[in-house]
Amino acid sequence: MFLVDSHCHLDSLDYENLFQGPDEVLRRAHEAGVTHLLCPGVDFESFPRMYDMIKELPHVWGAAAMHPENITPDNRDWKDEVLEEFLSRDKIVAVGETGLDFVCTPETRDIQEESFARQAVIAEKMKKPLIIHARGSAARCLDILNGVNCRDAGGVMHCYCDTVEVARRSLDMGLFISISGIVTFNKGENVREVCRYVPLDRMLVETDSPYLAPVPKRGKPNEPAFVSYTAKAVAELKGVTYETLCNTVSRNFEECFRVTLD
Ligand SMILES: [Zn+2]
Ligand SMILES: [Zn+2]
Repeated sequence: MFLVDSHCHLDSLDYENLFQGPDEVLRRAHEAGVTHLLCPGVDFESFPRMYDMIKELPHVWGAAAMHPENITPDNRDWKDEVLEEFLSRDKIVAVGETGLDFVCTPETRDIQEESFARQAVIAEKMKKPLIIHARGSAARCLDILNGVNCRDAGGVMHCYCDTVEVARRSLDMGLFISISGIVTFNKGENVREVCRYVPLDRMLVETDSPYLAPVPKRGKPNEPAFVSYTAKAVAELKGVTYETLCNTVSRNFEECFRVTLD
């Protein structure tokens, strides 16, 4: 049985105090039944370091992109060729994470939109799915995707926390919806509502570690092993066994990212 953490920042965990290295993180994940991981990129500067970390790790894939919070007037003119080179490397399976964040960085809205549209075009050209980060902006993300013809790229709305209505639109566009530890929070009722709505065969689970640790680890630094708590919560909400949930989200991950789990 497989279980994939579809979104964890393996390169941002606390290797000074908490873990000796990524091998220890992976060992703990495996002990919890979490067999595979995907580590998204967040900007071009940190990507080479992240890539060096993951390239030799078994059962770990990566992605490359500019995170909307990291786009500034200084780097907005990033070069297509640089991203395309990252995306052509072994094990780099997606354009992510990209998207729009109108909560943390509303002041750069215009350049975020321009940058997201460019990345969507590259995703289509490179035939890689998008990992979409949306905060206060999910509907706008979909509008931009509709405007650039990237239907074949597909992708996932990661750490989904918007409305059921926007989830429905995302599904109509062929996107997957990824559920994070928020589904276990007292204040996570909107995510539980989305989780009940989204068909099991369109769903992924993730930690977004080191952020957003699920209950019962809430408030602690998150790590890939903890996606098992989120998977248990989702299984309960969907009324399926843990095994069925794990098997289904693993198949979904294979479909979304065009990889084979083994
Ligand atoms: Zn994100
Ligand atoms: Zn993230």
